[in-house]
Amino acid sequence: NSDLILYVNLELINRKSNRRYVVQEMLGQGTFGQVAKCWDTETSSYVAVKVIKNQPAFYQQAIMEVSLLSLLNEKFDPDDQHHIVRMLDFFLYQNHLCIAFEMLGHNLYELLKRNSLRGLQMKYVRTFSRQILDALIVMKDAGIIHCDLKPENILIAPTVKTAAGVKVIDFGSACMEGKTIYSYIQSRYYRSPEVLLGYPYTTAIDMWSFGCIVAELFIGLPLFPGASEYDVLCRMIEILGGQPPDDLLREAKNTGRFFKHVGSIYPGSEARNGTGSAYRILSEDEIEARESMRPKVGRWYFPRGRLDRLIFTYPWKNLSEENLPETEKADCLALVDFLRGLVEFDPNK
Ligand code: ADP
Ligand code: MG
Repeated sequence: NSDLILYVNLELINRKSNRRYVVQEMLGQGTFGQVAKCWDTETSSYVAVKVIKNQPAFYQQAIMEVSLLSLLNEKFDPDDQHHIVRMLDFFLYQNHLCIAFEMLGHNLYELLKRNSLRGLQMKYVRTFSRQILDALIVMKDAGIIHCDLKPENILIAPTVKTAAGVKVIDFGSACMEGKTIYSYIQSRYYRSPEVLLGYPYTTAIDMWSFGCIVAELFIGLPLFPGASEYDVLCRMIEILGGQPPDDLLREAKNTGRFFKHVGSIYPGSEARNGTGSAYRILSEDEIEARESMRPKVGRWYFPRGRLDRLIFTYPWKNLSEENLPETEKADCLALVDFLRGLVEFDPNK
């Protein structure tokens, strides 16, 4: 992509290794490679270096990560105010593309685990949400879709001047809006309806994942921890009390995998099911009949129910809506309202 490559100084890629970075310990491992905590001998500070697997597909996508992050850092957030990780350097080392980032802290999944998956206090949910949203606004302005927003890809940022801060990382799956290539994107729990159903996607898919993250920060467990894509869709329908709009179902490529057409194909026909939709989700038995769709045993066992129930009476709080103090009740109501705007089936909304 010529617009983007402008932002990648190819000379830097060809720079010979000068032993600038000394590996201290491994920080994390992902699909794209490994991340090491390194001592930067030039600046006398720690940095996080992502070492990309030396296979062409990973290299290509990592070049995209470098391009999109340069664009975001330099053109859209020059003063580092919008909670997006800073890229410091990139180079080739023994045929591995390496990307150096500012050193950040634990990711939000680790934070939730440390908190025994009991969720964070509302004040932290609010602060983190505002900051992630700030990053998403900048990404939307830049026309960049992150495509893998999840707690593992949001890191505590100790350097942020406020008491608690986060930054969005991992643009390794990101792409430009209108130049989408892949259809199998996003981590399953955070996968948007349009991606599940195979419908052209926009930056709205990040907003869906963001909604899932906000709920998870408060509840402590994923909102839609489906063991399969079908399971994720069933949980959405149950928790949100609705289903994707017919326009989307009619045009999406994968609708037939999950839904049965029960209405008439003729416009104006009244033969619709009880919900007024021309489609209904397949039953467990119908899904069972399709070998490849059989759900595997899930990681989470989570009480099912409507969104407001989950927020008001999630298992750890041991409270019911009735005995919640007034301020907490108002906070929960506001959170449910906020979430409703985010986990919205219709991408246009
Ligand atoms: P992948 O694309 O393989 O998922 P990520 O960029 O998400 O790679 O990095 C994998 C993990 O490494 C992250 O979830 C995080 O725990 C850790 N990590 C990545 N970048 C940093 C950083 N800048 N500072 C500290 N830890 C990091
Ligand atoms: Mg990651």
